[in-house]
Amino acid sequence: MMSPIRTATENDVARCAELLEILFSQEHEFTVNAVAQSSALSMIFRNPELGRIFVAEIDGVIQGMVMLLFTVSTFLGRKVALLEDMVVAPAWRGKGVGTQLIDHAMDFARREGFGRITLLTDRDNEAAQQFYQAQGFSKSEMVVFRKHLDDETTLNKSESDTWMCRECGYLYDPAEGDPESRIKEGTPFVEVSCHWSCPVCFASKADFDPFL
Ligand code: FE
Repeated sequence: MMSPIRTATENDVARCAELLEILFSQEHEFTVNAVAQSSALSMIFRNPELGRIFVAEIDGVIQGMVMLLFTVSTFLGRKVALLEDMVVAPAWRGKGVGTQLIDHAMDFARREGFGRITLLTDRDNEAAQQFYQAQGFSKSEMVVFRKHLDDETTLNKSESDTWMCRECGYLYDPAEGDPESRIKEGTPFVEVSCHWSCPVCFASKADFDPFL
């Protein structure tokens, strides 16, 4: 079947985050973190030089997505792309939606002058490897190395704990909230309205940093 593929926009953050939830729940190395996924998607939508997200919309609902992140190869002397977050909703698998998404991403990359597309997939995911081979990808002899610069505890802390106003040093404690601004006790900082401001100096929410 043919489904229309289009470039995703900021309005698609919530549905794309849902699809990522499906993807990460089936990959070994990743766990779901809705705040992290949504903020990363927004980062890409607001900074198109970082990459592009394509979605397959079927009867008005996004049922698949794929992402190209942009970088440079000094070897090729050209722009290259990382293909990430390829996922099709389970009910729509095996119907050619993935192939259409990949074709669309490859056409885009060729048209924009990219020299290569690289992707990672689970070592034991034979189905995914066969899928990518059928799309013309071949297995690299390179080995993937990683170093995490921010461990899980730091990430969770910045999401749930105290934040400090850069202007005046006021500490937002989620246990207390900010009842005068009708922020209930127990409200994590990430859930505080972006229109909220520091109760002491009226600096905006964006002027707060995690207090680690
Ligand atoms: Fe302040």
